[in-house]
Amino acid sequence: MRISHNHPRFISLETRERLVRGFQSGVVVSQGLIAHGRGEAFDYLLGEVTPESSRVATKAAVALLLSAKNPIISVNGNTAALVPRDIVRLSRLIPAGLEVNLFHRSLAREQRIASFLKRNGASQVLGANSSARIRIPGVASPRRSVDAKGIGDADVVLVPLEDGDRAEALRKTGKIVIAIDLNPMSRTSQAATVTIVDNIIRVIPELVRMTLRMKPLSKSRLNAIASSFDNERNLARVMKDMIRYMQGWT
Ligand code: ATP
Repeated sequence: MRISHNHPRFISLETRERLVRGFQSGVVVSQGLIAHGRGEAFDYLLGEVTPESSRVATKAAVALLLSAKNPIISVNGNTAALVPRDIVRLSRLIPAGLEVNLFHRSLAREQRIASFLKRNGASQVLGANSSARIRIPGVASPRRSVDAKGIGDADVVLVPLEDGDRAEALRKTGKIVIAIDLNPMSRTSQAATVTIVDNIIRVIPELVRMTLRMKPLSKSRLNAIASSFDNERNLARVMKDMIRYMQGWT
């Protein structure tokens, strides 16, 4: 379907089209379409713009990613369908590994997503072959199985559109978890070290811009930025932003 640029909801409709195309090519599962719907509802409460509180979280996330020894970006179907070029660009810039990790998992789908990321510029994608796997304790879903050299060995993991169980379990293994989730009340948002409450279509390009800006900073400056961030306090700020936006309608 072709959508006119003049349509007042062009970005939202175009984003849905990208997911539908991803669904038709087997990158996105039907459950991913439902998950996006929940995200859209929360985006509406943000006024579909990035609040200052999310920019602060993005800055802390970049500080952690640039200071990490082995940073990894976990990619699911919706992430691949929505921001394929920017996620690859971010992984090159940091640099961080890319690992396909799926809730609705099959080898064919993992390989489809890995090929899609490669067509969008990735040179290596973990999680889509028979390389050594380890299990994250305490996760019931297929997302428990991770690449030993990827998420298994990572100190900092960026988990866009995660499920709460795994975010909690990754924290328990001592990893730093950066989540992207439009719902500030989800278990993922609450469990992560840093939660960026914003739409992934705005977050990943902003992470790229912020990484370019912060790359020259010293290790001690990056540490200061990361350690001054308080996730609980920031989530409360985001919720206040949402309430303020809704009050503007009454
Ligand atoms: P949790 O297990 O963390 O409580 P959940 O069960 O509510 O999460 P899921 O169904 O696993 O959620 O995944 C959907 C999540 O992804 C929702 O919290 C939703 O806000 C978020 N989400 C969906 N689309 C986007 C998007 N485009 N950008 C950011 N977040 C999104």
